[in-house]
Amino acid sequence: MRQNAPGPLLEIRNLSLSVDTDEGQARILDSANLALMPGSIHGVVGESGCGKSTLMRAVLGILPKRGRVTEGKIVLGGRDLLSLSPAILQREVRGGQIGFIPQDPYQAFNPVFRVGTQLLETFRARPRADRRDGGRANIISLLKAVQLPDPEGALDRYPHQFSGGQRQRLLIAAALASSPAIILADEPTTALDVTTQLQILKLLRGLAEERGLSMLFVTHDFGVVAQLCDTVTVMYAGQTVESGPVSQILATPLHPYTRMLLACHPDRGAALAGIPGSVSSPLRPPSGCRFHPRCPSAKGECSKVIPRRTEQAENQDVQCVLYGAEAAA
Ligand code: SF4
Repeated sequence: MRQNAPGPLLEIRNLSLSVDTDEGQARILDSANLALMPGSIHGVVGESGCGKSTLMRAVLGILPKRGRVTEGKIVLGGRDLLSLSPAILQREVRGGQIGFIPQDPYQAFNPVFRVGTQLLETFRARPRADRRDGGRANIISLLKAVQLPDPEGALDRYPHQFSGGQRQRLLIAAALASSPAIILADEPTTALDVTTQLQILKLLRGLAEERGLSMLFVTHDFGVVAQLCDTVTVMYAGQTVESGPVSQILATPLHPYTRMLLACHPDRGAALAGIPGSVSSPLRPPSGCRFHPRCPSAKGECSKVIPRRTEQAENQDVQCVLYGAEAAA
C-alpha cells in the first residue's frame, strides 16, 4: 500500500448476483467482498468463469442480461451505487469518478472511423472532462501521458494503423478522460504479447502513482498481480475466497485454491502443477464449499458447511473450514 488511508475508497459488501436462464437461476456472484483502498492497486484473480469481470461490471452498474443483484452493497464515497438511478450512475460514476479499461483493444474501436473522432466522442460524453479546444488539446495531452508516439498525428489515423499495445494505450487515455479517482481494468493485457504486457503494466503503475489513482485490476495471472498490485482478492466460483496484501499472500497463501493457483505459475520455481477439474456451474453449484470437488484438503464437512470468512493475519482474510468458523449449509 502506498499511502495510509482511513478506510476503503470503494467497498463491495456481500454482493450476490443471479441470472435467470432457461435452465433456472444461475448464482454468478455469491456474497462477494472486496475493499479498494485509496491510492492502491487491487488485483482480482481467478480462473475464467469465477465471476471476476461480472464483479467489476457490477460496480459500473452493467449487469448481465436477465441479471439482478439479490443482496449486498457497492459503496463508493459513502453512497451505495446500487441505490443510484441509471442516469446518475452514467453521469457521475461511469463518466466521472470511475474510468474503465476493457479487455480487448482490437474490439474496442469502430474500424471505419478515425481514432480522433472516436476519442473526441468519448471525451465529450464525460461530464467532468475539460472541453477547451473541443477537447482536442486535452486528448493530445492524455495521449502523451500514455506515451503514444506522435500523439497529434494519431488522431487522424484509423484503428488498424495501430498495434495492439498502442490501441491499449488509446483505451487507457480514454479511461483517464474524466479525471477519475478509480480505474477499473478488465484483463487489459491478456490479448498482448509478453513484452508489450510488461510495458503496459509499467505504464499503469506510473500513471497510478503520478495521478494518485486507485485501480481494480482483473486478471487470471498471478504473475501480473505480483508485478502490479498492492493487494489482491482471489475469486472462485463467484465467491471471494481469500484477500490481503500481495506480498503476504505470495509468502503465505492460506486457501487451498490460492495455493493451487500459485503452483500453476511458472515463476514459482517448483514443478508446474494444474488444478484438476473445472470451475463448477453457477446453475448447480456444489453444496458447502464450492471448491470441495477439486480441493485436495477437503474433509467430510466441506460438502456440508459453508465456510465463513475469517481474518487470519493482519488484513488477510480467508474463507475455508481449515481456518475457523463455519456455517451450516
Ligand atoms: Fe478445501 Fe474444505 Fe477449505 Fe473448501 S472449505 S477450500 S473444500 S478445505
